[in-house]
Amino acid sequence: MTKYVFKNARFKTSATKSSAYPTMKLPSGELMPEIAVAGRSNVGKSSLLNHLFQSKDLVKTSSIPGKTQLINFFTLDDTLSFVDLPGYGYAKVPMSVRKNWGPMIQEYLEKRTQLKLILLLFDIRRIPNDEDRELIEWIVEADKSVILVLTKIDKVTRNEKVANTAKILKAFNCENLHYTTYSTTKNVGRKELISMLIDALADEQNVNNHVELVEPEDQEDAE
Ligand code: GDP
Repeated sequence: MTKYVFKNARFKTSATKSSAYPTMKLPSGELMPEIAVAGRSNVGKSSLLNHLFQSKDLVKTSSIPGKTQLINFFTLDDTLSFVDLPGYGYAKVPMSVRKNWGPMIQEYLEKRTQLKLILLLFDIRRIPNDEDRELIEWIVEADKSVILVLTKIDKVTRNEKVANTAKILKAFNCENLHYTTYSTTKNVGRKELISMLIDALADEQNVNNHVELVEPEDQEDAE
């Protein structure tokens, strides 16, 4: 089994279209398994990637609103590739940039065969809205595995953490949605997340973290 050290992260390239995505291979010739990080702007994506990589500023924090949104590719220990997907939901981003976001994400989810897992970051203080649910629907449609990472847990009390988690899971309305919690400022969650990533990648069929949207009739049955 591949051993992941989580030490040497490197920036590879940025792309917008699938024709420009890099092809990274393992010494065996196989495609490097890829993990993508997705979420709303300001959710803490760059901070989490830097924390995960134990690097201070490899991943630039807070992209400038209005700038072209890019898909950023990184490699880790030359065994895994990580992708920082552009954030969504930033009110100050011009419409011209916003309208490209959906097609860019959908193209990536559909075309990237080596994509094994998506980390969907979500601020523990929010409740999912239509935009957030749409993203998870695309992930389900592309038949990809997902782990929900609830960020900034240092901003809530222990009780709020439990209550908010339940509300968020209910609003996402998915079966089998695996989740974990994270705080980069309090240094919480790295070990747990790494262990979940390794489990998800080791699962050859890669089915454990596949989710399904709950149909309305199933919801009624459950009540
Ligand atoms: P991105 O837009 O999703 O890449 O978000 P950033 O990583 O740039 O973070 C947005 C803001 O949230 C920054 O001011 C970070 O310092 C802050 N932030 C990120 N992670 C945490 C966290 O775990 N706790 C707290 N309190 N703030 C965080």
